[in-house]
Amino acid sequence: MNDFVNVAEIFGENVFNDKVMLEKLPKKVYKELHKTIDDGKELDPMTAEVVAAAMKEWAIEKGATHYTHWFQPLTGFTAEKHDAFITAPKANGSVQLEFSGKELIKGEPDASSFPSGGLRATFEARGYTAWDCTSPAFVRQDEKGAILYIPTAFCSYTGEALDQKTPLLRSMEAIQTQTLRLLRLLGNTTSKKVKPSVGVEQEYFIVDRKKYLKRKDLIFTGRTLFGAMPPKGQELDDHYFGVIRPRIAAFMSDVNEELWKLGVSAKTQHNEAAPAQHELAPIYAECNVAADHNQIIMETLKKVAEAHGLQCLLHEKPFAGVNGSGKHNNWSLTTDDGINLLDPGKTPHDNIQFLMVLMCILRAVDRHADLLRESAADVGNDHRLGALEAPPAIISVFLGDQLEDVLKQLISTGEATHSIKGETLHTGVSTLPDFVKDATDRNRTSPFAFTGNKFEFRMVGSRDSVAECNVVLNTIVAEAFSDACDILEKAEDISMAVHDLIKKYASDHYRIVFNGNGYSEEWVKEAQRRGLPNIKSMVEAIPALVTDKSVALFEKFGVFNRTELESRVEIQYEAYSKALNIEARAMIDIASKHVIPAVLRFNRNLSDTVNSMKQAGVEIDVPLDMLKESSHLLATAKHALSILEKVADQASAMEPGRDQAVYYYEVVAKAMEELRIPVDQLEMIVDKEEWPMPSYGDLLFEV
Ligand code: ADP
Ligand code: MG
Repeated sequence: MNDFVNVAEIFGENVFNDKVMLEKLPKKVYKELHKTIDDGKELDPMTAEVVAAAMKEWAIEKGATHYTHWFQPLTGFTAEKHDAFITAPKANGSVQLEFSGKELIKGEPDASSFPSGGLRATFEARGYTAWDCTSPAFVRQDEKGAILYIPTAFCSYTGEALDQKTPLLRSMEAIQTQTLRLLRLLGNTTSKKVKPSVGVEQEYFIVDRKKYLKRKDLIFTGRTLFGAMPPKGQELDDHYFGVIRPRIAAFMSDVNEELWKLGVSAKTQHNEAAPAQHELAPIYAECNVAADHNQIIMETLKKVAEAHGLQCLLHEKPFAGVNGSGKHNNWSLTTDDGINLLDPGKTPHDNIQFLMVLMCILRAVDRHADLLRESAADVGNDHRLGALEAPPAIISVFLGDQLEDVLKQLISTGEATHSIKGETLHTGVSTLPDFVKDATDRNRTSPFAFTGNKFEFRMVGSRDSVAECNVVLNTIVAEAFSDACDILEKAEDISMAVHDLIKKYASDHYRIVFNGNGYSEEWVKEAQRRGLPNIKSMVEAIPALVTDKSVALFEKFGVFNRTELESRVEIQYEAYSKALNIEARAMIDIASKHVIPAVLRFNRNLSDTVNSMKQAGVEIDVPLDMLKESSHLLATAKHALSILEKVADQASAMEPGRDQAVYYYEVVAKAMEELRIPVDQLEMIVDKEEWPMPSYGDLLFEV
């Protein structure tokens, strides 16, 4: 436990960052490496050799005994395999510590067990990890020792991407090229680089680990498969932004310290809407680094929680009837000379560059709403998006009053002449300062909201990687910029052409703009009237990846080829089926081995009571009614269980692929719901002492 931490002192102390490189590398090597990091120049073996030696020396100083290529295969988790720095023992029995340039830049994990979606047969199992020098290496230290982590991309023998990072890096190159093209046309001669900036707000639940270990559903599936609502839920909104309890505060403090050492700029922490739910947000960083940092954040939350006797739940919907967890992906475009292309300035109506960029983004989101939706599809998120208690899975864009007003002016008169200004906020209290409010309020129900100088994509699930949504965002916006450039480059009068194009895009894509309540029933109908897709589930979202439109988009910008897209489709169907199979099996196990025996014990007690009361000649109505009710629910549960067993067997006997996933979604998931209903009702009746697992109330309110 840290007493007082000097953040500035510890920040980045376990990162092989620029400061360390400047110190440890010969000037020439440092410069060469930067040519690769900054300009994408191929890395020469000599440079790699020197960097590896410096990295090893630095890591050993930090106590590292091993190194690992750290990568993000399509399992949804990160992967690592540790190799010690030691060489083979010499004749005298001594060893040396070694780490070569080759070992730094290339690894070959035995990769046959990672999902490849048919990209690799098991007999040709080679896969390679390649050093991503744009995301700094770091050392993780704990009681078990210290290890040097080297962020890498993971590809097949034939160069197809098998991970999240490779397409992300490809998409970053695409958007950089197309943004610079557009900027030049708009008269910018100075910016040399453009990167997407990403800030990820991470939501999570914290429960007591001892209680967690008594919930087989949480252990096996990450969410509760049974559980009656406690008397109190989140209706009082008393948890949101509430005082952080000491046990949680101590945990957060250790999380922050560990993250800061790893160069992750953890900045904001607060209690979230649901009981036991919290949020952590770092300061935004370059897209690729932000995606890596988000993985580090998730892993750190889990690890530190365990050390505190707590359990971090990253599932999108650990508790039915209580808010789920997501991840807000804040996205903008920044040039190397400090321009944020999404900064509207004070008078957006005459900021031509901003309007052009904004209209292209509207166009991109409207054209590819299905892909953006797909990028947020994962098994857990099905319980958050489009489901009963969740916002509809319709993509729309919130612009706020000021920008919507500019858009309306453009559409109606072809000319935007003024911008609504922020007014002074009067509190009616003389000692409180008056200040100028933002020109636009916020909207918490929009999946894609403009929030001042960035867009916030709010659909991503809490456990999912943000790589996917950023691959889509970067590529669809690159396409919109590219299409605009194709038109503008041919124009005789560029400023006229820009003006016309802004107006055209504003009119063509106005339908995607929605400033109202995205959670309302009316919006679902309105969106349907506008022709916007409402894709309710993961299995319905997946096909968007391989439409002609999608293949053309990703191939044009070199982000995915058709084979890679097809493989991802296959992997996602399989991931869905496997997860549902585990959930169904866990449910069957818990119901038959734990719940039903508990209810039988409860019933036996009741019938003993009835018998002895009968003998004593007293009124037996009450216990008899209770016995009848629980026996009836037990019969319903038993029946639902046998149906679930049957359909789960049928599902797992099917060939992997779309049909199987659809069967799990349409039949098995429904059978699971049918079993849950009587079991949750039984939980309300059966003696708490008899119930085989901690309740929602125990988990959510007693941390
Ligand atoms: P909010 O706007 O949601 O209330 P913040 O201003 O704290 O909250 O921002 C949320 C996240 O957005 C943080 O991770 C923050 O660093 C990030 N962010 C802020 N500005 C940008 C930007 N220009 N581009 C990308 N992310 C940004
Ligand atoms: Mg936010």
